[in-house]
Amino acid sequence: MKIIMLGAPGAGKGTQAKKIAEKYGIPHISTGDIFRANIKNGTELGKKAKTYMDQGALVPDELVVDLVVDRVGQEDAKNGYVLDGFPRTIPQAEALDKALAAINDKVDYAINVEVPDENIINRMSGRRACVDCGGTYHIKYNPTKVEGVCDACGGKLILRDDDKPETVKNRLSVYHEQTQPLIDYYSKQGILKEVDGTVDMEEVFNAITAILG
Ligand code: ADP
Ligand code: ADP
Ligand code: ZN
Repeated sequence: MKIIMLGAPGAGKGTQAKKIAEKYGIPHISTGDIFRANIKNGTELGKKAKTYMDQGALVPDELVVDLVVDRVGQEDAKNGYVLDGFPRTIPQAEALDKALAAINDKVDYAINVEVPDENIINRMSGRRACVDCGGTYHIKYNPTKVEGVCDACGGKLILRDDDKPETVKNRLSVYHEQTQPLIDYYSKQGILKEVDGTVDMEEVFNAITAILG
């Protein structure tokens, strides 16, 4: 099962992708997590990506596409995967389709988690992210058992720099300009599924599993 998560920043893609990965036994591939791991490790890719991420801009396609094509070709991804945060532009989607077509493969579902812009700033300012495993929590909607400590791995939780309201506004306009057109792209392919992302996390997940079976 090959799944793409679509939705605005903060819509809950990562939250749902983790649950999907667990239930269906497939890897969760988050390009944001991959970039943040590279930044943490001080790699060349991390240095390049950071300049864009700090501004809420997208990292250029040429820095993202090969990385993802390589990742989905790895052994643990042979029975499927859930892509979170990729594709984010039409050229990225086309590159993925092309790479998959070359091995007679294709994406099965593009799940769009719908959350209106009004809700996003609130979600982001309360989001806390684990520096070690990328797990995300919310101070109000999904608090950890111990404040500031990741339930999953014991790592430290932070408010991401790019989750501050000024940057979130930028990220939202980038989303509308560059990423939202993917909804139409996958709709035309007949694989788009929409779920209401404003309801409780468990309810969102139920809607998704009803689609995936
Ligand atoms: P969110 O959880 O808010 O959706 P991500 O963790 O997916 O954010 O992404 C954080 C940042 O990493 C983005 O704002 C962007 O700068 C960069 N990024 C992640 N994935 C991509 C991608 N597929 N293409 C370009 N930039 C990306
Ligand atoms: P994305 O990966 O799309 O950027 P996340 O999964 O990181 O989004 O979720 C953004 C924030 O909103 C996190 O703090 C998360 O705990 C919270 N969140 C996710 N889903 C819901 C929901 N259905 N209701 C309320 N808060 C949610
Ligand atoms: Zn963690």
